Amino acid sequence: MTRLIFLGAPGAGKGTQAQTLAQEQSIPHISTGDILRNAVANQTELGLKAKSYMDAGELVPDQLMLDLVRDRLSSEDTKTGWILDGFPRTVGQAQFLDTLLSEIQQSCSHVVNFDVPDEVLVSRLLGRGRVDDTEAVIRNRLEVYREQTAPLIDFYSDRGQLVSIDGSQEIDVIASTLRQTLKLQS
Ligand code: AMP
Repeated sequence: MTRLIFLGAPGAGKGTQAQTLAQEQSIPHISTGDILRNAVANQTELGLKAKSYMDAGELVPDQLMLDLVRDRLSSEDTKTGWILDGFPRTVGQAQFLDTLLSEIQQSCSHVVNFDVPDEVLVSRLLGRGRVDDTEAVIRNRLEVYREQTAPLIDFYSDRGQLVSIDGSQEIDVIASTLRQTLKLQS
């Protein structure tokens, strides 16, 4: 069963890799960023609450995130596996996920960390042109990543669940390294 958590700074390429791998394995790609962007576009209650945090490059409060992830991981299509992209982003979210997974009797097979130097991240993000990718917001998102999300690398590596991949390579090189590392057929 392929159940993966993708970790990495904004711009590390985890979304791109998650999308193709999920398609190949016929499992859902669960991107909390995509779910939130949809909610903002549709002006749902969640979207209205999340928007100001996203615009500023801050994390959306856990109170909103935890219900969203619980609902998503409890839906029918996740029975065959999943890739979580963008969650967890704090140690608190990781602890919540541990509890949730044991409640629903699932476990994550690997946590994949996409490792990319800062200068590569900044140039990728500036080139992407998303509305939350202005230079000031990018700087803040990287800061938030360093302070709140990077500690998850030690959190998962201490438990022997972490694999790290050089995310500064070309997309197809990263893709094949990922499959070799996870021993998956493409
Ligand atoms: P992403 O597409 O993963 O870079 O996420 C875009 C934005 O959505 C982030 O900058 C946060 O504001 C918000 N977001 C996504 N995932 C989370 C999460 N797990 N916890 C809090 N905020 C999140």
